[in-house]
Amino acid sequence: MDLVLMGPPGVGKGTQAALLQDRLGLVHVSTGEVLRRHVADRTPLGEAAHGHMLRGGLVPDELVTAMALDLVGSARCRAGVLLDGFPRTLAQARALDGALAEQDRRVDAVVWFSAPEDLLVQRLTGRRTCSGCGAGYHVLDRPPAVADVCDACGADLVRRADDDEATARARLREYAATAAPVREHYESAGVVRYVDGTGSVAEVAALLPTALHA
Ligand code: AMP
Repeated sequence: MDLVLMGPPGVGKGTQAALLQDRLGLVHVSTGEVLRRHVADRTPLGEAAHGHMLRGGLVPDELVTAMALDLVGSARCRAGVLLDGFPRTLAQARALDGALAEQDRRVDAVVWFSAPEDLLVQRLTGRRTCSGCGAGYHVLDRPPAVADVCDACGADLVRRADDDEATARARLREYAATAAPVREHYESAGVVRYVDGTGSVAEVAALLPTALHA
């Protein structure tokens, strides 16, 4: 089974993907995560992507698509992927459909998460990640016992470079403009399932089994 999780930044796709991958036995592919690793490793792709990411814009289609389709087509992902952050444009969606079709696969479902913009901005600007073990926190909803220190391993917590308010709002605007045609593309294929991403992690997770069987 190949699934796509869609919805604006901060809606909780990554968190739900981490829970779903174990439940469904799929490989979670987050293009944002892969790109951030390229930036940290200063690869040519990372160098080309970095400026776009800092401004909250999209990395050009040809760069992201090649990277994402390599992963989707790899042996590790043959049994199915859980895509998070890809496709983000109509060109990416068409390229994904073509690559899957070559392997007799298709996008079986697109889960579309939504939440009000102010809640998304609050979630994005407050989230922190442990620089040591990668554990996730939120300054309001899930604060660490000691400010800016990981409860699990004691390393410093960091905020993503693109999670300041101005960049978060730019990312939300970019998402609204480019994701709508992708959603319409999959709506016409009849595979979109709608999920309210407003609740807690557990509340949203509880909606998914029904949405996926719809
Ligand atoms: P995310 O972690 O999904 O919020 O992605 C972080 C940033 O990575 C985005 O703001 C984009 O700059 C870039 N990015 C991730 N996925 C894509 C994609 N499919 N197409 C273009 N840019 C992307």
